[in-house]
Amino acid sequence: MDVARLTGTKRSTLNSLWLPRTGNIVPMTYDIMHSVSNEPASDVQTCPHCGFSWATLTRAKCATRMSAAVESFVDVIQRAGAQVGTRPSEQRWSILEYGGHLRDVILSVRERIVLASILDVPVGTPIFRDERVDLGFYAQDSASDVAVELQVATYLFLKTVATLPPNYEERGLIYSTRTPLEITIAGAMSNALHESEHHLADATENLRLLDSSQHG
Ligand SMILES: [Zn+2]
Repeated sequence: MDVARLTGTKRSTLNSLWLPRTGNIVPMTYDIMHSVSNEPASDVQTCPHCGFSWATLTRAKCATRMSAAVESFVDVIQRAGAQVGTRPSEQRWSILEYGGHLRDVILSVRERIVLASILDVPVGTPIFRDERVDLGFYAQDSASDVAVELQVATYLFLKTVATLPPNYEERGLIYSTRTPLEITIAGAMSNALHESEHHLADATENLRLLDSSQHG
């Protein structure tokens, strides 16, 4: 993935706070939103699962890390072979489902960034993570589909980041009706990166679990 053109270097203060989700949906996978506490915005937060830090991030750094994470994810899809669609346990998604989820998150966050560039503090549409899996919207996802779609979604996202007008990182948005928290576009960029790195760790862990169940 060509990230050489993504050279924006403006630094922003990120105010990425994620509130716990409410509602009666039982998540199939651990909820990223639950993993970050509702601390003051000045605190830099860290994901207890993957170690991601919501520290200040340049556009170029975001692009480099997201590209690396997604390329690694595609590599995991290929390495999983016939087990790519297998859930290692009832509590986990398959690698394909994590990939489909990541693809949809990236597309959704891109739309929120575009909307927040045009409107003042718009409210993002939640992706309804578990519902779209449970309703079967990922049923026709093949490994080759998801690999290509992840790359396309990421490239679209990074083009948006690269072409965002100067200083727009500070514009605000409400993340979603489900997570009614005001963040900046910079925070949304960080969240897309977090999702990429976090779910890469999920997919890699799946590979390990599948391998040990095969050989154990
Ligand atoms: Zn994480």
